[in-house]
Amino acid sequence: MNTNQLFDNHGRPINYLRLAVTDRCNLRCFYCMPKEGIHYLPKKELLTFEEIERLISLMASMGISKIRLTGGEPFVRTDLMQLIRKIISINGIKDLHLTTNGILTGPHIAELKQLGIASINLSLDTLDRDRFKIITRRDEFDKTWEVFQQMVQSTIAVKINAVVMEGKNIEDILPMVELTRHLPISIRFIEEMPFNGEGNHYSDLIWTHKRILDHIKNAFPALTKISDPENATAYHYQIPGFTGNVGIIAAYSRTFCGTCNRIRVTAQGELKTCLYDDGVLNIKELMREGKSDGEIKMKLIKAFSGRPKDGFEAEAKRKSGAPIKESMSTIGG
Ligand code: SAM
Ligand code: SF4
Repeated sequence: MNTNQLFDNHGRPINYLRLAVTDRCNLRCFYCMPKEGIHYLPKKELLTFEEIERLISLMASMGISKIRLTGGEPFVRTDLMQLIRKIISINGIKDLHLTTNGILTGPHIAELKQLGIASINLSLDTLDRDRFKIITRRDEFDKTWEVFQQMVQSTIAVKINAVVMEGKNIEDILPMVELTRHLPISIRFIEEMPFNGEGNHYSDLIWTHKRILDHIKNAFPALTKISDPENATAYHYQIPGFTGNVGIIAAYSRTFCGTCNRIRVTAQGELKTCLYDDGVLNIKELMREGKSDGEIKMKLIKAFSGRPKDGFEAEAKRKSGAPIKESMSTIGG
């Protein structure tokens, strides 16, 4: 146990930071942003690499040991690899993970492996080229699939993230589970959340984690619950004899909040202590106002000590009072 480890007001350790390095993206997944895109932040509003390094070093001294870089699409930020090389060498950072749509990731896989990246989450909601085009509004399936294969070959730990959506990719669930027969990967089915950048959303979630599980169990009755890693958001399952495993993430039902160890920093440097809050502290502004590390740490400690107990409380306490309107590409997922 890290002796500097911070705990929140509910006794949960805070040791995992998910950082969105940009809000820009080369896809337009309909559950994440409108087809015309979102109003991207002016570049000067994004955290610079120097600010990100400072932020991570500071948080590492408070017990953060796991980082996930996400976005937007992290690789649209040129020179992302430079940042990755730096983060990996920060004292106290044990695991660096990435979430990516894969389109620009191919040329970097060998170096990521060599640097010791802990895992890559590849977003892929379908195995069908036409459905991919409808969901992402771009014709990039072939590239994503090729990158998936390269990742598996590289022996980097690969997880596929698939958002489950009525009328969009239900026919992909079982073939995706089938991929785990011979491949050492994890396929994670995610409940759709209301972060589509438009504010409009279904009133009732059709494909809940329970329904996804029943659907898979019907086809694979031998599906067995396996142990979940500490602080996991996914419930893990495996079909006996299969190489990989399946995860189901109740992201909308929010069943995992009791062990939540994660905080988020959005592309504009806003700290979120829960995915469903609307930001509790702008760290970029503090840095640009010239605040010292000590002053920023005090503010972070205060923010961690006022953490909502779960995503429902966080949503109810949103400052704006308005329904969620953000795009996941500003938050990072
Ligand atoms: N662009 C990268 C990608 O797609 O992997 C990283 C950023 S993306 C916002 C991170 C994750 O959030 C993706 O796996 C995506 O599927 C998920 N996501 C985005 N919008 C979502 C939503 N409304 N509900 C559930 N998951 C969502
Ligand atoms: Fe881009 Fe990822 Fe959002 Fe899709 S989910 S639009 S790839 S940020």
